[in-house]
Amino acid sequence: MPSAEKSDYYELLGVARAATPDEIKRAYKQQALKHHPDKNPDDKDAEEQFKRVSEAYAVLSDADKRRRYDQLGHAAFDPARGGTGFDAADFAGIGEILEGFLDDMFGRRGAANRSPKDLRYNLELSFEEAALGSERPIEYERHELCTHCKGTRAEPGATQVECPACRGRGEVRFQRGFFATSRPCFTCEGNGVRAEARCTRCAGRGSVARVQSLSVKIPAGVEDGAVRTLSGMGEETPVGTGDLHVHVKVKSHSLFTREGADILCDVPVSFPQAALGANLEVPTLEGKVSMRLPPGTQSGKVFRLRGKGLPVFGGYGKGDELVKVIVEVPAQLTARQRELLEELSREMGEGAHPQQQTFLDKLRGLFD
Ligand SMILES: [Zn+2]
Ligand SMILES: [Zn+2]
Repeated sequence: MPSAEKSDYYELLGVARAATPDEIKRAYKQQALKHHPDKNPDDKDAEEQFKRVSEAYAVLSDADKRRRYDQLGHAAFDPARGGTGFDAADFAGIGEILEGFLDDMFGRRGAANRSPKDLRYNLELSFEEAALGSERPIEYERHELCTHCKGTRAEPGATQVECPACRGRGEVRFQRGFFATSRPCFTCEGNGVRAEARCTRCAGRGSVARVQSLSVKIPAGVEDGAVRTLSGMGEETPVGTGDLHVHVKVKSHSLFTREGADILCDVPVSFPQAALGANLEVPTLEGKVSMRLPPGTQSGKVFRLRGKGLPVFGGYGKGDELVKVIVEVPAQLTARQRELLEELSREMGEGAHPQQQTFLDKLRGLFD
């Protein structure tokens, strides 16, 4: 990688050159959370940035590497300029540190039962699809084991040599808080040996990416934020296959909002309709229905259309539609309309508005 394009590690983390190890750790934590692929699915820029800050942290969190970087800059690790390069051991521990961050900072629910082999798919549904249920075809990229090397990354029959990352130990030691601990080596997957020749079919990656198509059943009444887990549809690895987690996002509707299994809808009516009563056309999920507005209906009154809501998710029966009547006051009047309203107002006098009358009585009692 050409070092001319590389940003300064301190700038990447946003810390001063004299920053303490604690400050560097805090800064990395912030950057890592912001750019983490879990938080930015399908965002290549975020993924790149995540890799850059992780590399910066791998160097600056290690006293020895930091000293070399301070003296020589990126050349310290650039093999083309006599540097040492990086190997997997340089990043040992970063995964562990991240897991720790993610658990306490993301507030990740079910972090314990989510494995790195799992995949996430964000599925956006219309209000109606979520309400009535549907079946949606989805496509996503998934890794399957290479059939030639069966995931071992090695060309079948190749000679085995000592793994350079762990020097044949099969494990890598790292510091976690006060404790020195170890985990299996990523490079050789704990075997301590590596094949000399990489698999020719998958170029030593052990897996191949394939576009997977499948159909996801959406149960009626599914809620925004719901997660459907399709077991065995995640990444295929030599140590098992992960799950696919489909995260449901429900789009908002122009007329309806939702409260559990109930649907709420505001319906504007005119003052004469509210006073005289009227037949209203009201939208429901299944089409328009007619609703009788009784004479003398107050603004804000809620009418319940039984069974016109959503199926109760994970339960029985259906919710209701709640129709809230809003009396709309004309914002502009013609001369003729004004004249008629003024006449109506005189004609109604005080007796026509008992609520207003009670209010005025109380008001007088309060200050007399
Ligand atoms: Zn292969
Ligand atoms: Zn190894």
